[in-house]
Amino acid sequence: MNRHERRRADKIARENRFYRDYIRHLPRIPTDAPYEREHVYHTVFFHDEWCAIYCGSACNCNPDIVRHIDPKRS
Ligand SMILES: [Zn+2]
Repeated sequence: MNRHERRRADKIARENRFYRDYIRHLPRIPTDAPYEREHVYHTVFFHDEWCAIYCGSACNCNPDIVRHIDPKRS
């Protein structure tokens, strides 16, 4: 694994950790819900295991898309 691939794998691991430890605990909302200014939204794409995105290419699967909403910040 070269430096580029290692950095990419680290980035994916970091993002997966952020999802697992934080985002997945936030309320889920429909993906077509309208955006409101005072919220932060997290749109998560779940790719199939065989998807080319894991080999550094463009996505060639039909990912499941989930949207979470961050609570209002004061
Ligand atoms: Zn994909």
